[in-house]
Amino acid sequence: MYPNVELLIDGAWTKASGGRTLTVVNPATGEPIGTVAHADRSDLDRALEAAEKGFATWRKVSAYDRSKLMRKAADLLRSRADEIARLMTMEQGKPLVEAKGETMAAADVIDWFAEEARRAYGRIVPARADGIYQLVIKEPVGPVAAFTPWNFPINQVVRKLSAALAAGCSIIVKAPEETPASPAELIRCFVDAGVPKGVINLVYGVPAEISEYLIPHPVIRKISFTGSTAIGKQLAGLAGLHMKRVTMELGGHAPAIVFDDADVNVASKLLAANKFRNAGQVCISPTRFLVQEKVYGQFVEQFVEHAKKVKVGDGLEQGTTMGPLANPRRVTAMEGFITDAVKHGGKVQLGGNRIGNKGNFFEPTVLTDVPREARVMNEEPFGPLAVIAPFSSFDDVVAEANRLPFGLASYAYTRSAKTATAIAAAVESGMMSINHHGLALPEVPFGGVKDSGYGSEGGLEAIEAYLNTKFVSQAGL
Ligand code: NAD
Repeated sequence: MYPNVELLIDGAWTKASGGRTLTVVNPATGEPIGTVAHADRSDLDRALEAAEKGFATWRKVSAYDRSKLMRKAADLLRSRADEIARLMTMEQGKPLVEAKGETMAAADVIDWFAEEARRAYGRIVPARADGIYQLVIKEPVGPVAAFTPWNFPINQVVRKLSAALAAGCSIIVKAPEETPASPAELIRCFVDAGVPKGVINLVYGVPAEISEYLIPHPVIRKISFTGSTAIGKQLAGLAGLHMKRVTMELGGHAPAIVFDDADVNVASKLLAANKFRNAGQVCISPTRFLVQEKVYGQFVEQFVEHAKKVKVGDGLEQGTTMGPLANPRRVTAMEGFITDAVKHGGKVQLGGNRIGNKGNFFEPTVLTDVPREARVMNEEPFGPLAVIAPFSSFDDVVAEANRLPFGLASYAYTRSAKTATAIAAAVESGMMSINHHGLALPEVPFGGVKDSGYGSEGGLEAIEAYLNTKFVSQAGL
C-alpha cells in the first residue's frame, strides 16, 4: 500500500542514479513500510538543469494559463485526498482526519495562489515630463530551492510550491525523507494537471548535502526553508554569502496568555485542542501557557481535564485524536525536557511518559511550577507538552512573552477590548490570535519575527517573495 517513492526530475519519476534508497518507517509501529530514493550529486545536477529550462518555459506561460493549471492540480488533490491522507498518516502518524484536513487545506492554498498569479500587478508612476512612461514591473525571481520538514508533509511544501508557480518560477523541492510519499503525491497532482516538465523537481537525500550544493548554485535564485532556527540560521548565512533571496519559517515558543477576565472555559478548551493537534509538532503550537493569578487554578484544572480526553493511538484507527510522535528523536526530546523540568522543581500534573515500547507514543503532558531556567521554558518543546505558569500583571506577562528570542505565533484570551488591543501591540510576534484560534489560512500572512525567521507564506505578501521588481522608464516615440 505504501509506495517506494521516487525523485521527479525533468518531468520523469525516477530512481536515484546511484540506486540508493532510504527506509521509511511507520511511527505508530516502528516497522519499515517503504523506501525513498536518495539523490546524489548527478541527480541534483540534472534537477538544476531541468529547473533552468523549466523556468524559461514557465515564465512565458501567461498568468491566466498558470492559474488554470494550478486550479486543475487543486481539484485533482481534492479528488485524491482520501488515499493521500492514508499515506500521510502511515508515514507521519497524525490521525487520518488531520491528514485529510491538511490535504484539503492544501488544495485551498493552491487555489489562493492561482488567484494571486493573476494579481501580480506592477504599477505606473507619474512621470516628471510629458511622454515618459515609468513602469514598475513584477518578474519571477527565477528557479527556487525549497526545503521542507516532516510535521506537515504537504502543507509545508504547498505554500512554497504554489507561490513559486504562481509567480512564474520553477522549483526544486527537497521534501522530508521521513515523510516522502504524501508530498510526492501532491506534486503528482501538478504533473497530472499538465505543468510542463522541469518546472517542478522533487529530490530527497541528505539534507545538508543538498542544501550546501543547491543554495550557492548559480541557477538557484531564491531559497525557502521551514525547520529549526539553528538550521535556518546556517542556511540563511549561506544564502547571504551568495546573495540569494530567502524566506525562513523557523521555530517558535508561542505564549498563550489568559487574563483574569477571559472566558476560561473557551480558553482551556481551544488551547488544549490546539496544543495536542499533530502531537504538538506544530511551529505555531501554543507552548508557554501564561495564566493570570485569579483564574490560574481553574485554568490548570480544566486544561488537564481536556488533556485527559485526548485519545492516543494509531492515526489509522477510528477515534484516535493524537497519533505517535513522528520520529524517536522527539520521544527522547520529550523525556529530556520533562526530566530537566522536574529537576528544577517542576510538577507533572498529567502524563510525562512514553506509552508502550512499540512506536513513538507519548502521553499528553502538563507541567506546572517550572522555573524559567528549565530548558522547556527556553526551547521549543515540539511535542505534546504544555507548561502552565501564573502571572500577576500585564507588564509581567509582556516581559515573559518577549523574553525569548522567538516571535512566531502568540495567543491571548480576554473579554476586554482594551487589553486585547494592548496585548496585540505589546507582544513581539509575527502573528497573534485573540479569543479564538485563527492562524494559517491561505489569505492571511503567515510568518515570524526575531529568531523565528522572516518573510510571509500567506496573504498577499507571500507571492512578493518570489517576484523581482523591475523599473522601466520609457520615452514615447
Ligand atoms: P532538524 O533541525 O535536524 O531538522 C528540521 C528540518 O530541517 C528537517 O526537515 C530536516 O530535514 C531539515 N534540515 C536539517 N538540516 C538541514 C540542512 N543542513 N539543510 C537543509 N535542511 C535541513 O530537527 P528535527 O529533529 O527534524 O526537528 C526538530 C526541530 O526542528 C524541532 O524542535 C523544531 O524546532 C524544528 N522544526 C520546525 C518545524 C516548523 O514547522 N517550523 C518543522 C519541523 C521541525
